[in-house]
Amino acid sequence: MKIAIIGGGYVGLVSAACFAEFGVEVCVAETDPARLDRLLAGEMPIYEPGLDALVASNRAAGRLSFTGALAEAIAGVEAVFIAVGTPSRRGGGHADLTYVFAAAEQVLKALDHPVVLVTKSTVPVGTGRKLAALAARLRPDLAVEIASNPEFLREGSAIGDFMRPDRVVVGAETERARAVLRALYRPLNLIETPVLMTGLETAELIKYAANAYLAMKVTFINEMADLCEAVGADVHDVSRGMGLDGRIGRKFLHPGPGFGGSCFPKDTLALARIAQDARAPSRLTEAVVAVNEARKAGLGRRIIDFALAAGPAGEDLRGRRIAVLGLAFKPETDDMRDSPAIPAIEALAETGAVIAAYDPAAMSAAKPLLPGSVVYAESALQAIEGADLLVVMTEWNEFRALAPARLAQAMAGRVIVDLRNIFDPAAMRAAGFVYHGVGRGQRP
Ligand code: NAD
Repeated sequence: MKIAIIGGGYVGLVSAACFAEFGVEVCVAETDPARLDRLLAGEMPIYEPGLDALVASNRAAGRLSFTGALAEAIAGVEAVFIAVGTPSRRGGGHADLTYVFAAAEQVLKALDHPVVLVTKSTVPVGTGRKLAALAARLRPDLAVEIASNPEFLREGSAIGDFMRPDRVVVGAETERARAVLRALYRPLNLIETPVLMTGLETAELIKYAANAYLAMKVTFINEMADLCEAVGADVHDVSRGMGLDGRIGRKFLHPGPGFGGSCFPKDTLALARIAQDARAPSRLTEAVVAVNEARKAGLGRRIIDFALAAGPAGEDLRGRRIAVLGLAFKPETDDMRDSPAIPAIEALAETGAVIAAYDPAAMSAAKPLLPGSVVYAESALQAIEGADLLVVMTEWNEFRALAPARLAQAMAGRVIVDLRNIFDPAAMRAAGFVYHGVGRGQRP
C-alpha cells in the first residue's frame, strides 16, 4: 500500500517512519523549506530517540521519501494523513485549524483519484464532518472519504508507542475507509492491539478526553503534593498508596512543576472550549487548565521564596548564580512548547540572578524563548560549577546520576530546588544541602 503524510513534525515523521517499517510505501509532504532540506539531507529536524536510524533504513529500503511537492506525495496513494499542527488560537484557546484546512484544501485540489483523507492531527469534534463537506464541495467528482485516526504517541518514546500502542482508534463511517485503516495497522494484529472502530465525532473526542484525563491526574497529584507540604506528608507514598489501587493505576501520578508540552496545555484548553460551545461545559477540564496555569505562573516565586528562606536573611538573588538543569517539559525531547521552565526562568532572571542553564537536547529550541541574559552550559556539571542554587526542571537520567558529594564539590552554595524529585532528600541533607522537593513533607 502507498500513503502520503502531510507534515513532517513529531507526529508526521514518526508515523511515516513507523508505517514504512510496517512495509507501507510512505511519502511525507513538508512545506517548511528548512525542515524539508534537513529531511532530504538525512538529518532529523527533531530530537526523538531511534528516529534517525528508522528513517535512514526505510529510506534506504525505498519505502520512505520526502518532498515539498504535494502532487508528488499523493500520486497513486490510497490514504492521505494530515499531521500538521493544531496550536491554540490566540485569545480563546480554541484549536487553530488553519493548517488542517489549508492542508486538506491543497490535497483535495491536487487529487486525481479518490482517497481516504485521515486526520492524525488532534482536531476538535466536528472537524471530520467539516472536512467531508469541504471534500464534497471542492471535489464532487471524487469519492473522498474522511476518517479520524488520532495519535497517542509520547515524545521521547514515540517509536515504541507507535509500534506497540495500547490501542488504535479509527473513526470512519464507510467500509472502504475502515478497510484501508485496518490494513495499515494489520501488523499490530500480531501483538493483539485493540483497534477501536467508531464514528468520526467519537474518535475525535476520545483523543481530547484521554489527554484531559491524564492532565487531570497530573494536576490532582500536584495539588496533593502541595497539601503534603502543608501537612508534613510524603507525596511519593501518597501516590504509591493511591496508584496500587488497580482502579486508579500508578501512571501519571508524579508531582512536578505543572504539565507542559505541545499537547496537554492546548488540548485541555481546546476541550474546555469544545464543551462550552456544545453547551455541555466540562468544569473539571476548566479547573485543570486554571490550576495548572496558576502552578506554572507561580513557579518562579516558589523557587525564589525557598531560595531566600534557605539563604542568609534579607539577601536577594541579584548576582547569584542559579543552575537550571533541564529546559524541555520532559526528558528525551527537544520540544520546548509550553515548558514550565519558560515562566520559571523569566521570573528568576528578573531577580538579577545569573541563570546558567543546561539541557541535553532542548537548548537550541529554548534559546529564542528564554531571556537573553541566560547563559548556556555545555554540560550539567558546567552549569552547576559555582552555583549558589540548583533548580531541577526536567528529570533527565543523567541528572539523576549526579552524586551529592559531586554537587557539593561543584557548587558554591548549598540550596537545591528539585521540581521532579529526582534526588533522595535524606542523602542531599546529609551532604549539607538545604533541599526542597515537591510534596515531600515540608514547605518553605
Ligand atoms: P509539528 O509542529 O511538530 O509538525 C507539524 C508539521 O507540519 C511542521 O513541520 C509543518 O511545517 C508542517 N506543515 C504544516 N502545514 C503543512 C502543509 N500544508 N503541508 C505540509 N506540511 C505542513 O506538530 P506535531 O507535534 O507533530 O503535532 C501535529 C499534530 O499531532 C497536532 O494536532 C498535535 O496535537 C498532534 N499530536 C501531537 C503529539 C506530540 O507528542 N507532538 C502527540 C499526539 C498528537
